[in-house]
Amino acid sequence: MVKKQRVLDAGVFIEGGNLEGITPPAVAKETEVPPIVEIVAPNDTKLKAVMETAEKTGDLDVLSRADVEVLALALQIDGIVCTNDFAVQNVAKKLKLEVEGVSREISKEIKWCWYCPACGWKRARKGECERCGTETKRRPT
Ligand SMILES: [Zn+2]
Repeated sequence: MVKKQRVLDAGVFIEGGNLEGITPPAVAKETEVPPIVEIVAPNDTKLKAVMETAEKTGDLDVLSRADVEVLALALQIDGIVCTNDFAVQNVAKKLKLEVEGVSREISKEIKWCWYCPACGWKRARKGECERCGTETKRRPT
C-alpha cells in the first residue's frame, strides 16, 4: 500500500508537530512554514466540494480559508489531515478523510531559529534581517 501524504494545518507549525507533509498557500500566509514543507494549492473543484460539505455539517462559518484549503488539498491527493481543530476534523470525517491529531509531545524537542527568506542569512533575529531588511521567518533547527 502506498503511504498517504500528510496535509498540515497551521496548528502543526504553531505547536511544532511532525513536519512531514505538504500544506496549502493559505496556511503559509497565516504562519511561518519551514522551507522543507512543500506548498501545494488545491484546485477549485475540491475547494467547492469542501465548502458544500462544511455548509451541510454547519461548520462553514467557523472554517478559515486556510482550513478549507487544508481539507481541499487532502481531498485532492487522498491524504491525511493533520489538525487539532474540531471543525476541520468534523468536515474531514464527513469527506471520509483520514485525520491525525497534532502531537504536542514533539514540540518540546523542537528548537526554533530565525532566518531570512530573501538573502538566506541564518543568524537572523526576529524582525528585520540585519543584512537586507526583509522580515525574518522562523523554522525548526
Ligand atoms: Zn536578508
